[in-house]
Amino acid sequence: MEQTERIEPVNRILDALLRLSAPVTTGRIADYIPELAKADPDAFGIAVVSVLGHAYEAGDSRKEFTLQSISKPFVYALAISDLGLDAVHERVGFEPSGEPFNAFSLDDQGRPANPMVNAGALLTSSLISGQSSSERFARIHASLSGFAGRVLDVDQKVFESERESGDRNRALAYLMKASGSLTREVLDVTEVYFRQCSLLVTTYDIAVMSATLANDGINPMTGVQIVDSAVARHTLAVMGSCGMYDYAGQWAVRVGMPAKSGVSGGISAVKPGQFGIGVFSPRLDDAGNSSRGVAVLTLLSEGYGLNLLQHPPRPASPIHLLKWDADVLSAGIRGDLDFVDLELIVHEVAEELATKKKSDAEVRFDLTHVTSIGEAANMMLEQLVTRLKESGFRVSIEDPSMLVKVGVGQGGLA
Ligand code: GLU
Repeated sequence: MEQTERIEPVNRILDALLRLSAPVTTGRIADYIPELAKADPDAFGIAVVSVLGHAYEAGDSRKEFTLQSISKPFVYALAISDLGLDAVHERVGFEPSGEPFNAFSLDDQGRPANPMVNAGALLTSSLISGQSSSERFARIHASLSGFAGRVLDVDQKVFESERESGDRNRALAYLMKASGSLTREVLDVTEVYFRQCSLLVTTYDIAVMSATLANDGINPMTGVQIVDSAVARHTLAVMGSCGMYDYAGQWAVRVGMPAKSGVSGGISAVKPGQFGIGVFSPRLDDAGNSSRGVAVLTLLSEGYGLNLLQHPPRPASPIHLLKWDADVLSAGIRGDLDFVDLELIVHEVAEELATKKKSDAEVRFDLTHVTSIGEAANMMLEQLVTRLKESGFRVSIEDPSMLVKVGVGQGGLA
């Protein structure tokens, strides 16, 4: 253990990032829920959990706080698991609202803009399957605990404080009830919503929950599939466009990771396929995001090239061998094949056949060292084989791992 810590570079980087962001002391603790105002303004923690299940932490990463709006994407994931994306979308939109999180903004049908604003989150929470509000909360509690990999507790004081001060959320729910978009009893719906917001987590828990979304819905610490891969992707898409209150556009440019923040000062951010991040610091900026949280995630993203729209480097050529043996052209292919890899293979093989002017040759593709084939690459490979055959070439494919999906595109490999 000690040995691993000594060679562990990530914790040191996180420590350094916290040190660099700690001077940011702007912003105010949320006090519209009185119990939240009691938070320590200087608390600051960060945690990163990779899809391989390794955790890195710095600062107050084990200090508890309430989940608040960070519950929204995870409850949305449960709702789309229960009902399907389209059924949920009929009731809650996908579009950034451009308005504050607690705005009274609904479309003509009373439909909220997205599940990350309060109106949308209340409605989403009401869609969870269950006969009673306690059954619905029990399902939310089980699912969010599954995301975290441990049974989460409710902070009863925060729950009561929010219930007492929750007129605005009740008003939003009444508005949706009156317009017909909310079909359950208002007080049942707000009760469940206030409870989901009052679940206690640490920064580390948020990193695990985020890593579960990064890992196709499988919690990397417990190995349990919490939601399926498509649900994780849909949830990340909505976090990407609507997760950071009115700062969502700037966030895309400066940080570029799907994320969700909450009024208690937490932020969940996700680097799909790699890791989840949790950050906590209670002072909020004008948009309602943790000031230090935004600062530290901006540093992290800019410093380590984490923006999703960052241009990925091209890996080595997918062709590791291209050689003639009499009339046989062998093409040895390797790696994870995407559109551009196949484009390269198509052009290299075509050029080789044209230069050698062999019209009746055999082309042998050896895919032994291929590790995956994307949908577009598969279609291109199918097309390549079909066209080669139509031009009179004999074609064979060595595919020991059976990665090629036959007949997905037009043509077929048979
Ligand atoms: N429970 C809070 C509310 O409804 C959540 C808001 C937030 O974290 O953005 O006001």
